[in-house]
Amino acid sequence: MTHYHSVSGGAASWLAAKLDMDRHPNEEHRFLFADTLYEDADCYRFLIEGIGYLIGRDVSDFLPHADHFPDYRVSGDFDIATYAGNPGWRAFLRQLRADVSEAMPELIWLVEGRDPWEVFRDRKFLGNSRIDPCSKKLKREVLAAWLDANANRDEDVVCVGIGTHESHRYTPLAIRMAEDGWRYEAPLIGTMEGEIGAFHYLAKASIERPRLYRKGYIHNNCGGYCIKGGHAHYQNRFSVDRDRYDYDAMMERKLAAYLGKPVTMMTDRAGDNVKKPLSLDDFADRLLADPQLALIPYEPGSSGCGCF
Ligand code: SF4
Repeated sequence: MTHYHSVSGGAASWLAAKLDMDRHPNEEHRFLFADTLYEDADCYRFLIEGIGYLIGRDVSDFLPHADHFPDYRVSGDFDIATYAGNPGWRAFLRQLRADVSEAMPELIWLVEGRDPWEVFRDRKFLGNSRIDPCSKKLKREVLAAWLDANANRDEDVVCVGIGTHESHRYTPLAIRMAEDGWRYEAPLIGTMEGEIGAFHYLAKASIERPRLYRKGYIHNNCGGYCIKGGHAHYQNRFSVDRDRYDYDAMMERKLAAYLGKPVTMMTDRAGDNVKKPLSLDDFADRLLADPQLALIPYEPGSSGCGCF
């Protein structure tokens, strides 16, 4: 029997894997990471360092530092019709994947090949809080295809990092996967470790928590970007990651022009309580017009990603 741990680079999936490994020390453990090619550089550092710790592997020879990554963004003006990410960023990740796969084959690093913006462009649809083609194409389908080809439905277990506070996400996932013949488990649900949270255990392991958490984000997916993020999420991003916010806004603007309609990730009911599209550009104007808005403390849990 093999235990496959779906790891996203988030702290919760690391702790879920740790807990499950503590419970099943004699089973084989493997780690599945579906890369959106849009992750924060420090997410890759954490992923490698965290799994290295769990399997007792010295990763110092190939552990990257966030400062050594090229920029993920494409600079200058470009046509979104031919956008394929920054070639330097993608080449760096390609080499890192190859190095890690050789030194740490327990980490199965999967890549569909596009980032979320390419998925939206190709699908001619910008995702939102209800419909997530990015997660579907870059994560769920990639992981499902790999499991179909490589894992054993009758014996293997797939573990996810869903915790007690989001257990509502676990039941539908487990039911869906059970219908497909898979056994999914969420090791954190109902445990003291899940209540305490991963940061305590990361500190005990001398692993620095991913920097997005240190900036107030509540997830470590897609470099802090997310189509499911709401006002609170993007207010925080505007305050702590202005360059990234501006890039998101530019991509949203380019996609809307490409599709020929004013698509946005966020909506708004201000004024007449009628739901309307709210672009990141307009939201930034609102924050700039009232600087006090940008200073309102972000309430973790008030917005964020429920990806996968
Ligand atoms: S984190 Fe958000 S933007 Fe990224 S794949 Fe998941 S749902 Fe899509």
